[in-house]
Amino acid sequence: MEYDYSANFNSALLEEVKKKLEAKLTNQSFSNFIKDLKFQELEGDAIVLETPKSSNVPVIEKKYADMLKEAIVEITKYNFDLKIVNTEKDSAPKAKQHDADTNKLNPKYNFDEFVSGKNNDLALNAAISIAQMDNLNPNENVKNPFFIYGGVGLGKTHLIQAIGNSIRNRNPRSNVIYVTSEKFLNEFVMAIKNNTRHVFQQKYRSCDVLLIDDIQFLKDKEETQEELFNTFNELHEKGKNIVFTSDRKPNDLNGIVDRLKSRFNWGLMVDISPPNYETRLAIIKKKLDKSAIAMPQEIIEYIASSIKTNVRDIEGCLNSIIYECTLTNVGPTMELAEKAVKRTSSDKQQKKVGVKEIKAVVADHYRIALEEIDQKKKTKDIANARQVAMYLTRTLTELSLPKIGDEFGGRDHSTVSSAIKKIEKLSRTDDSIKRDIQDIIDTLTKN
Ligand code: ADP
Ligand code: MG
Repeated sequence: MEYDYSANFNSALLEEVKKKLEAKLTNQSFSNFIKDLKFQELEGDAIVLETPKSSNVPVIEKKYADMLKEAIVEITKYNFDLKIVNTEKDSAPKAKQHDADTNKLNPKYNFDEFVSGKNNDLALNAAISIAQMDNLNPNENVKNPFFIYGGVGLGKTHLIQAIGNSIRNRNPRSNVIYVTSEKFLNEFVMAIKNNTRHVFQQKYRSCDVLLIDDIQFLKDKEETQEELFNTFNELHEKGKNIVFTSDRKPNDLNGIVDRLKSRFNWGLMVDISPPNYETRLAIIKKKLDKSAIAMPQEIIEYIASSIKTNVRDIEGCLNSIIYECTLTNVGPTMELAEKAVKRTSSDKQQKKVGVKEIKAVVADHYRIALEEIDQKKKTKDIANARQVAMYLTRTLTELSLPKIGDEFGGRDHSTVSSAIKKIEKLSRTDDSIKRDIQDIIDTLTKN
């Protein structure tokens, strides 16, 4: 999976880092100093690791920091700084802050770092204007909620966090909550389990600004949606800013209840689309400004013209070039860039999907039983799902038409062929089929 390590580190990655050190250290050093390290947070570009013993801090800093950093670079392809802290001593003053988890904003995600282009300038300008409003006049709630949507790696998280950072910088006491919808869900579930629902409600209903990232993950989670709906109403009434991001526009969000969708539609909605060549070029230049690498224009142009998918992929490609140059101490060559581009694009296609998986995801998407795809039933819904599954099998696998027929309950290859043609045609003319297919492909190719 493509992953933006430049802005991400987590406990699972720390475990991998530990494994690398375990292989290099004596058992005793490992268990004294490394084994119990915990990932605390990402502070800008610095990974903050926590050790349970305060006397460990200087030792780790002196003896193991380089080794840790090296392992981190190997795993993440990114040069993070490292900060070792001790639980008792360093975290005490933090106790007063709002819940650390929900308030983590990456300072890198600010408006200055965001390159504008035709694909995103409406979103950027709206975000800036939202960040400048402290309290909305409830009668002028036209921009509330602010809803940003677009595909992966196009800067939604960057923008929503930039809003949070900007508001917090201007007014450090403002209670800004940033949370992914997944995290919102998990917290809510925990609150129910622990009988602390009132605490949860108090937290979310008393904030000044609520930023919820990737709302699409609340799909089918009806109770959480209900809770969000009520939270929304209360905040909205008080004129508190609410911002959502999503991978698609409200009306296309399957599995989200209508009244919540209608709330999403109340305010200001903007989309971000993939950057064009000029914007990609500008993004690369901006990212290079921050590194010590001098990259020839020719290579910059090559990358900009080769990676069209999204900004995350561009960053990944650049990071791997920068990493390699730093390691070898040689400037970037065209050959190196070609390799990096190739790797970036092939990572995407690496995931091979099989017919079984396609059927399962299609059945799930259309909410029919898996067996029904192979059976003879001809109700409209089932036939449609079956045809989409055949079409995707043809597109995503190497199977021949007769083989696909076999896989789908022994159908004739001409049946398969006409099903595929039909969906092919529809996928160009019918928005809802187009969206279905995109969704299914996204699910299939996600890691
Ligand atoms: P999304 O949330 O839409 O999947 P992100 O906000 O995580 O995407 O963006 C992926 C990466 O690309 C981040 O590191 C982000 O900083 C960077 N990025 C995206 N858009 C831009 C832009 N317009 N200018 C600079 N960096 C960008
Ligand atoms: Mg995101």
